[in-house]
Formats: sequence, C-alpha cells, structure tokens
Amino acid sequence: MSSQWIFMGDKLVKKEEAVISVYDHGFLYGDGVFEGIRVYSGNIFKLDDHLRRLYESAQSIMLNIPYTKEEMQQIIIDTVRKNQLDSAYIRVVVSRGPGNLGLDPTNCLQPRVIVIAEELALFPKELYERGLTVASVSSRRNRPDVLSPQVKSLNYLNNILVKLEANQAGAHEALMLNDQGYVTEGSADNIFIVKNGTIYTPPVYLGALEGITRNAIIDLARKNGYEMRETPFTRHDVYVADEVFLTGTAAEVIAVVEVDKRTISDGKPGEITNHLLSEFRKIVTTDGVHCYTSSADSATS
Ligand code: PMP
Repeated sequence: MSSQWIFMGDKLVKKEEAVISVYDHGFLYGDGVFEGIRVYSGNIFKLDDHLRRLYESAQSIMLNIPYTKEEMQQIIIDTVRKNQLDSAYIRVVVSRGPGNLGLDPTNCLQPRVIVIAEELALFPKELYERGLTVASVSSRRNRPDVLSPQVKSLNYLNNILVKLEANQAGAHEALMLNDQGYVTEGSADNIFIVKNGTIYTPPVYLGALEGITRNAIIDLARKNGYEMRETPFTRHDVYVADEVFLTGTAAEVIAVVEVDKRTISDGKPGEITNHLLSEFRKIVTTDGVHCYTSSADSATS
C-alpha cells in the first residue's frame, strides 16, 4: 500500500512523520480552528465556502493563518493529488502552534497548518434508508456570547459532551438546545424540519454553526420551489414534524425517524428529505474546485 501524505507546516510529509509538539496550544488548549471538507469524484465541494469559514474563524480568535486563501487552496489540492484520492474527506487544521505551558497565545510564534486527506468512510447505506434516532440532551449549546458556534474551533468539548449523552441514551445523534430551550443543531450537523410542505431550520444566531451543507440545502430547497424558512422552533415542533433531517459534510442529508422516543410521522425517511438528498448529490461533483484539471495545476508538488 502506498503511504499517506500529510501537509505539515510547510511541506508534505509521510503520515508517520506527521507529529506535533506536546507544547502546541492546539493540543494543550484546543486553541485553533479547523474545517472538514469533502471531495466527490475529484471535486472539492464548496471549497471557497470552507476557506471563507476557516479564515473567518481564524479572524475571530486572532489567529494568523500563514498562507493566503489562494495558497491554502493550492495546498489542499496538492494534498488530495499527492494521495491520489478521488472521493475523500479533508481535514484542515490551523493550531496556535507551540508555546509554553501558559495559555497566553502571545507565546506561540508560529501557527501550524495541517492538511489531512484520506479515503472517505461513507455512512452505511442502511442509515439513509432507515433514518437516525436522536435524543435531546441536557448540555446546552455554547452561548454565542461565550464561544460563538460560528467559530469552528478545535475546542469541541461542547459537542463531545452532547455526543456522550446521546450515546448514553442509545441514540445516533444529539439534539442541542440553546439556553432558552430553542433547537439549535446536532453535535456535528444542522437540523431541518418539514411541516405541511414548508421546510424550517433554526437561524444561526440561536447558536448553530452556519453549515456549508445547510446553506446548500436552503438554496436547493428554494430552487426546487419549496417554502424555506429560517425560524426558531422548539422540541415540540420537532416531535410533531412531518419530516426531520440533519445536514453535514459527512452525513450529507440524512433522515431522523425518532426523537426522544417519539416516532416522527410514519417512522420512515420523508419524501422531501429524499428529494433534497438526491438534488444535493447532483451538485456535489460540479460545485467546487476540481483537483485534476489543468486549472488546479500544482504550485507546491
Ligand atoms: N454543526 C456543527 C457543530 C458541525 O461540527 C458541523 C460539521 N462541520 C455542522 C454543523 C455541519 O456543517 P457542514 O455542513 O459545514 O459540515
């Protein structure tokens, strides 16, 4: 098997050599930002949007990414190419870099860029056919004025804690509420509900990450003539919805058929959910940046 190459700092290295310092504040404090991106048949889906979100997260926490967006795009393309991947999952990490044991980031002089691209572990097909179970959890979503959910930071403990709660409840995924009890999102995905033909998703200011898949689905819903609203809603609205689905880079669009032991509608993935998933899969190979065309010519490899 050929070895896997990882971009570390300023070059591609073999996986075994891709190691970071124990003094890196990404490791010590979760101080840094990241993106999860997907490649479909050589097309890096919505790469511009992912780069925009990465740089906005970095701007918010005053982290200087040592590359321009254009350079970062080329690094990502080169990493996919070097690993000869066609369908892949990419993880881009920018950590504050090595410092001392104190938390003050001014001691970290060199932010560290890491790009990992690997074969995609697809969600099992049967999960799309059967749908997921979800449990609402007691831990609330980070308040936007404490640690904004818009910052895709390396500190994912809020999400990890709710995932643990979902596991304990025997559910596939967690449903997070904000401190006022409004529905926000899952541990790593956005939520949509359908009622009487209208599609609803919570506005991001309630405390949800502005998911790239979420935005793509909002666009597709409107293009396909559905009434699409960004409106606050509660757990009750989820329980009595006709359809519930989650969106995310890994999951794409996936039905939820049970929430807090309440069966949603007839307990099967709904028509609109399935329609939006099929519309979504039509755009994933074209909407983005292709790795293997001449316009993606490599600058670094
Ligand atoms: N919410 C959270 C907390 C996430 O981690 C993710 C995954 N990035 C999402 C929503 C979905 O976002 P996207 O569609 O950009 O993957």
